[in-house]
Amino acid sequence: MTQRQLRLPGGHSIPYTLKVSANRRTIGLRVDGNGLTVHIPKRVAQHTVESLLQDKSDWITRKLSELQDRSPPFEWRDGATLQHLGQDVRLDLRQDARNRAVEFDGARLYIALPAPDDTRLVQRKVAQWYAKQARADFTRRIELLAAKLGVPTPPLFLSSARTRWGSCNSRGEIRLNWRLIQAPPHIIHYVVAHELAHLKEMNHSAKFWAWVGKLCPDYLAARRELKAMSGQLHLV
Ligand SMILES: [Zn+2]
Repeated sequence: MTQRQLRLPGGHSIPYTLKVSANRRTIGLRVDGNGLTVHIPKRVAQHTVESLLQDKSDWITRKLSELQDRSPPFEWRDGATLQHLGQDVRLDLRQDARNRAVEFDGARLYIALPAPDDTRLVQRKVAQWYAKQARADFTRRIELLAAKLGVPTPPLFLSSARTRWGSCNSRGEIRLNWRLIQAPPHIIHYVVAHELAHLKEMNHSAKFWAWVGKLCPDYLAARRELKAMSGQLHLV
């Protein structure tokens, strides 16, 4: 492992870690919390590495800046802003020794707790509230779109998977991530349409996308938007 500097034409330089591994055949680049790491096979000339990095310098700088732009972790405090169906919701925490009520008036989510500074409990309460909202909302959308598709309403399960927003298995069960309830309605509509279309086609073929398009004509835009907001939705 060696520390090096990549000098860019503008006079700017990027530090990187060079790692040699015996069983590699190609040069691999990785940008993460540790910065840029370059994995190389044995016996690769430094100028080869250097010129590859120069070629990839736009990609490297973009990745490094994306990493810096990542939002800080969500702060579970009174006055924090949550999202519900794409709308801002103010988190209103109240100290109450006896009552543990959760109330929502469309703009504020009131949560009463004996210790409102217990962030883990606040987080759990909010997640429970989201899950309840999600179940009601997703159930209604599934019913509507299943009717449109001419299929029986499939059973819904809420998931909390980090890697996917929805899934449909061979038994025809639909799983949707409760975190989606934070997204605007047209995004939820797209994910529901996508999973329901799998009841017709268990693949991502052209036929499948044609079904999605019938339920959600703007699916391409919605899909792009969802990708862009994924990180944000996972903060909570
Ligand atoms: Zn799919």
